[in-house]
Amino acid sequence: MRKVIYLLLLPVVLVILWLGFKPNKPVNNVTSNKYSDIDTINSKEKIMEQKIIKTEEEWKKELTSEEYNILREKGTERPFTGKYWNYFEDGIYVCAACGTELFASDTKFESSCGWPSYFQPIDSSRIIYKEDRSYGMIRTEVICAKCDGHLGHVFEDGPPPTGLRYCINSGSMKFISKKK
Ligand SMILES: [Zn+2]
Repeated sequence: MRKVIYLLLLPVVLVILWLGFKPNKPVNNVTSNKYSDIDTINSKEKIMEQKIIKTEEEWKKELTSEEYNILREKGTERPFTGKYWNYFEDGIYVCAACGTELFASDTKFESSCGWPSYFQPIDSSRIIYKEDRSYGMIRTEVICAKCDGHLGHVFEDGPPPTGLRYCINSGSMKFISKKK
């Protein structure tokens, strides 16, 4: 009888041992970039494939001095001065340097900050996020994935559904109206 009990217990003991020695799975290897959960590696690679690389001289020739200052030198326009902070027409905002469609008017909201504000980009694969520790602050810089142009920053005090506020310089974008 004892033998039978031992035989019945044996598999249970083996399972317990196996569970006990199972190597711990690494804690969910979540990407550190909390804004790009919906990205797929493929779409990011696609944008990278078509990346636009120009010399600073070339950019200087193509952009206005204001666009150059923002996009290439990470400048910031003064609040309430840009052409789009208080602009609510139907259309698409594209990168002033490379024409990538970045933000749509239906994600733009009225913000008291003085810069055009959106709760999400058209496609997060068109944006690169980078930690910015300039001016004694820790912010997340928003960059055009295609041309590496500086656009602005993203903050976590935006409205639903994302709770994000993409605070973008008017001077880094061009508006394309839906009515044509
Ligand atoms: Zn661009």
